[in-house]
Amino acid sequence: MPTFQLSSTLHDMDAEVLAIHCSDHRFQAGFYEFLNLKLDLDEDYDLLVLPGGPQCLTLVEYLPKFSWAGWKWFRFLVDAHDLKRLILIQHQDCSWYKDLPFHLHSSSELRQRQEEDLRRARAALHKERPELSVELYYASYDASEHIAIDTISS
Ligand SMILES: [Zn+2]
Repeated sequence: MPTFQLSSTLHDMDAEVLAIHCSDHRFQAGFYEFLNLKLDLDEDYDLLVLPGGPQCLTLVEYLPKFSWAGWKWFRFLVDAHDLKRLILIQHQDCSWYKDLPFHLHSSSELRQRQEEDLRRARAALHKERPELSVELYYASYDASEHIAIDTISS
C-alpha cells in the first residue's frame, strides 16, 4: 500500500472555533476560502460537515435521533477543545431542505427556511451555552457562479 507524504503539518495549537456547514461539494472551496482567508482562521478551527449543516441543531421533534447526534457532536467538541466561538453557515440551493416537510417552517421559501433554522439554532445554543459567541452566515452564488457570503443578523 502506498504512503502519501504530505506537505501539511500538525496544527498543534488550541482552537477556539467550531464551524458547521453542509457537505455540498459545490461550496467546499468557498467555505474554505471564507473561513481561512476572510475570517482569518488560518485552518485553526474544528469543523462539522454534514448534509444541511447547522440544521442538525434544530430538528429535535422532526428527526430526534439526527438532532441528538448533532448536539452530541457539538457538546463533545466544545467541551473537549474548550471552544468559544461558533460559525454556522447555510447555503443557497441546499438539497437537504428539498426533502423536509414545509410545516417545519413559517415560510415555504428556501432561504427564509434556512435563516429561520439558523436563528433557531442560535437561540438554542444561547440557552444551553450563553458564554459562546454564535455567528450566522449564508452562502449564495451569482450568475457567473461566484460565491458570496452574507452575515445573517438576529
Ligand atoms: Zn446543502
